[in-house]
Amino acid sequence: MNASAPTHGVLRPIDPAHPDEALLQEAAALLRGGGLVAFPTETVYGLGAHALDAAAVRRIFSAKGRPAFNPLIVHVPDVATAKTLVTAWPEVADRLAARWWPGPLTLVLPKRAMVPDEVTAGRASVAIRIPAHPVARALLAAVGLPIAAPSANRFTELSPVTGAQVARSLGDRVAMILDGGRTPVGIESTVVDCTTTPPTLLRPGTITRAELEVVVGPLQDPAPVTDAEAPRAAPGMIARHYAPRAMVRLLDADALARAVATERQRGTEAPATREAEPVSAGANRPAAITWSEAGRAAAADLHVHLHLDASPLAYAAELYAALHAVDDAGCGTVLVEQVPMDPAWDGIRDRLARAAHP
Ligand code: AMP
Ligand code: MG
Repeated sequence: MNASAPTHGVLRPIDPAHPDEALLQEAAALLRGGGLVAFPTETVYGLGAHALDAAAVRRIFSAKGRPAFNPLIVHVPDVATAKTLVTAWPEVADRLAARWWPGPLTLVLPKRAMVPDEVTAGRASVAIRIPAHPVARALLAAVGLPIAAPSANRFTELSPVTGAQVARSLGDRVAMILDGGRTPVGIESTVVDCTTTPPTLLRPGTITRAELEVVVGPLQDPAPVTDAEAPRAAPGMIARHYAPRAMVRLLDADALARAVATERQRGTEAPATREAEPVSAGANRPAAITWSEAGRAAAADLHVHLHLDASPLAYAAELYAALHAVDDAGCGTVLVEQVPMDPAWDGIRDRLARAAHP
């Protein structure tokens, strides 16, 4: 495709309540032919390819600029299809699937040979999920194939939660973007490795550890890994990941208030002093993302201030949209109020820590 071609040609609106069958058939034909189709899931937008076609899967890696050691999640329409991809289906998988599929939970299981090494980055295990989003489900039904799909963004960038964000990140590197509006869950799926006993919580998400443990008993944590090893241990563990362009500073409400006061002082200094500063120092004021009343008050006079909900599910649903908004406003720095230590916030705390990693 011509690099200068307008990107809106690939962006195709689709009504999640009544997905257009002709458009789904068009998308399915592209996927069967080895093309890339981005689509909404309930977590974030996915960049999909025919999961059993190695050449198609390689196109995902080149479109994203994603290192080849980073495995993909395979999306399937039902448990029967999931079972065709694996050599074992332990009882814990049955229980987790029965409770959360379709939904924002990914299970890692021993793979069958038919799953290309490209999908699993050479691992003996494959990550599988049945998404709940009606467009993802309709697309899986239309194509009748498993779809490998990582988040639909360039490597290390923030995951997209709208079709327009996919278009901005991947533009004409995809054959089609099904634009079904904002994704409701807002952060990536919880990942549980069912090849270990007990199972391992590889990546926290909106399904909490406590909820999982009610169903399958105690989970183990991944063995601690260094930054150098992290990509191989579990790619979501790469320290800098899920990051906006703005520099993320994680602060409690008091520290956030002090940072804002410092900014205010800088803003009221004599113009001569300001001109003497490096251009970048005060070129644009920071943005803030808060959730508590103290945080709201601290950030009140910042120009770009997003105050999110104080409940973890609602906060997760808004977080990436807020970080995208900070980038869209051109802010160089975003002061993010640290979230509660409560385990219900684990998935959010994980993404914020990675976004803030230098
Ligand atoms: P992304 O699609 O960018 O959200 O990344 C997919 C995530 O799935 C990775 O970050 C891993 O946490 C996880 N994953 C995928 N395949 C495997 C696997 N075979 N073993 C362990 N984790 C996996
Ligand atoms: Mg990703």
